[in-house]
Amino acid sequence: MPDAVLDAFQRPLASLRLSVTDRCNLRCRYCMPEDEYVWLPRTSILTFEELDRVVRVFSRLGVRKVRLTGGEPLLRHDLPALVRLIARVPQIDDLALTTNGLLLAKQATALRAAGLRRVTVSLDTLRPERMLAFAKSARHADVLAGIRAARDAGFEHLKLNSVVIRGFNDDELGDLIEFGRAEGAELRFIEYMDVGGATHWSMDQVVSQGDMLAALAQRYGPISPVPGDGRAPAERFRLPDGTTFGIIASVTAPFCRTCDRSRVTADGTWFTCLYAGRGVDLRAPLRGGASDEELSTLIRTTWQGRTDRGAEERLGVADRGALYRIDSLRADPHREMHTVGFVNRDHVVRRPNGEASVRQPLTAG
Ligand code: SAM
Repeated sequence: MPDAVLDAFQRPLASLRLSVTDRCNLRCRYCMPEDEYVWLPRTSILTFEELDRVVRVFSRLGVRKVRLTGGEPLLRHDLPALVRLIARVPQIDDLALTTNGLLLAKQATALRAAGLRRVTVSLDTLRPERMLAFAKSARHADVLAGIRAARDAGFEHLKLNSVVIRGFNDDELGDLIEFGRAEGAELRFIEYMDVGGATHWSMDQVVSQGDMLAALAQRYGPISPVPGDGRAPAERFRLPDGTTFGIIASVTAPFCRTCDRSRVTADGTWFTCLYAGRGVDLRAPLRGGASDEELSTLIRTTWQGRTDRGAEERLGVADRGALYRIDSLRADPHREMHTVGFVNRDHVVRRPNGEASVRQPLTAG
């Protein structure tokens, strides 16, 4: 790639996650568990034109993959209009969406027609009563309808994300694979991470990649690895009958070494690592009249200085607990609590004008 911008460890700037809203219509225990949140003010959320400009600038620095996320991205009004804009950016050859699926049945056809190529739907359990207990939602049937609508709309490579948590859904791995097979979707099992609102995280709830493989081998027989390009976060595997699935072992086998991802939050803060405590404010220059050249320089120099290895560093922490504890937030509500793009933004960003963007559980003070 002639225009690749490399960081301090020679990792290219190649993949961008764009959070289009901080809001979510689920309250998953591992992500946004509180009933109430202070949402970002609407005026601070990047407009579609601003998001399109961000993507264009990043694409000229080497970004080829864009994934729309949140919060729940389908809560953003008229998302297909944004997809249409980004689909027109010539360098972007992979445009994808991660959604909880609740609103997907209504929007799948319009999103596909607008140029969205790939969809990943989060589905942690096949049991409605578990979703009710874990995500405080009785809308399991809507998620299944969303998955079917995505399949019918003809997206390439439909994927299902399942965060595996011991004692919650670790007895459903095989059933989820069977469901995926029936629906033409591939499972991605994700190790439970200590990021975001995962304030109840503890290592004993993490089901490691090794444990997942052992459980699946018991049901299906020998499992073989599928060779990949070494850059995707998921390692893929094949069951004896040919069915494939992936595991994202972000906790026990982090992929920092090849991480080419970064994230822009809904209000325009750019994070170069999921575990980073601070981001770079892109909104101020965007709204302050910066030229594309000035934005490019800011992004290029930041990336060239990037030394993040957040997940690997966490691996070395003895007595690892949740990255941030709710009591520390209560004690100091302005403490930086990071979670990004991927994510809700329980987080404070201080901007050059002194304004602080805060989105925290109301319980945090
Ligand atoms: N609302 C959308 C959704 O549910 O897919 C997009 C945002 S969500 C934060 C993106 C993905 O991150 C989901 O698949 C979710 O399950 C996963 N996730 C959230 N918190 C996590 C955690 N603590 N550990 C591992 N994965 C997590």
